[in-house]
Amino acid sequence: MRVVYTSRHRQHDADTEVQFGVPGPLYEVPARIESIRAALDADGGFELVDPVEHGVEPIHAVHEPAMVRFLETAWSEWLRENGAPEMIPDTILHPALREGMGSLGEPRPVLARLGYWTWETMTPIVAGTYEAARWAADTALTTVDLVLGGESVAYGLCRPPGHHAPRAAFGGYCYFNNAAIAAEELTRRTHEPVAILDVDYHHGNGTQQIFYSRGDVLYASLHGDPDRAYPYFAGFADETGAGDGEGANLNIPLPEGCEDAAYLNEIDRALDRIAEHGGSVIVVSLGFDTYVRDPICDLALTTAAYHEVGRRVAALGRRLVILQEGGYYVPHLGENARQWLRGVEERSPQLSRSG
Ligand SMILES: [Zn+2]
Repeated sequence: MRVVYTSRHRQHDADTEVQFGVPGPLYEVPARIESIRAALDADGGFELVDPVEHGVEPIHAVHEPAMVRFLETAWSEWLRENGAPEMIPDTILHPALREGMGSLGEPRPVLARLGYWTWETMTPIVAGTYEAARWAADTALTTVDLVLGGESVAYGLCRPPGHHAPRAAFGGYCYFNNAAIAAEELTRRTHEPVAILDVDYHHGNGTQQIFYSRGDVLYASLHGDPDRAYPYFAGFADETGAGDGEGANLNIPLPEGCEDAAYLNEIDRALDRIAEHGGSVIVVSLGFDTYVRDPICDLALTTAAYHEVGRRVAALGRRLVILQEGGYYVPHLGENARQWLRGVEERSPQLSRSG
């Protein structure tokens, strides 16, 4: 299996986030991706390839260009106006603040613009954030290239992750929505419907928002119930899409402590829905923060479950664009990823090479 990887993800290396109301070390660290790369290297069955630059157009296809511009220039403006070691907002544009007063254009001070384009305090910007986020999008797009070029499955080691970023905001460790950029590119190039399966612990609120009114892109997600889990404001079972997208959004919220057997039943529900949706390619938002030892999440999956989920996803017989999202128990992250991908290959050995 080909794996798209670049060491440039390390340019995004922040020290501090404010999570659960407490400042502390960031969980979303470069060692995450390096641990996966090391496990795949040691396996010997995976071939690393560099991402190819695709320019900003595929990003503009799903994101507000003014937000992309902000992320591009934010750090240099921050250095001129502020100079604190990381960009974390102190003021965020809550919709009630201007209720009944009309919308507000992008403000001028960089600190105000930061609170205009994000909604939370866990997604700092540092010197290399924009570069790394661009390369993460290029990693996703190169994974699409491989699959449309004849590979039946390819894996993009995206970092920073993407699924929390909606069209016109960033947050949840995510700046550009790599899976949405990949899905949009697939619809444009294949003229087919596309399904996105999101198995990260957290609901992919950004991906859902981007495609909520579209019937050609199915979004199906299993995640910690937003009644208790980030991102709190989206991911409920009754969010089924709007307009042309009605019925093309499937949320499966999971209870605290959910174990392998119950999880696999729910995966089958999502896969049944995906099987009904047309198209020949599935985008997988792959997260391992569902793991029993994850430090910030509360499900209880074991490594064996990842192998089985990989098998079941491959059993659909569709081509797979697999993109890395979250997962924060770094010591076992590599093995969990390796088992997921080995599960894919075991179920469909012919998928490991072009076909
Ligand atoms: Zn997550």
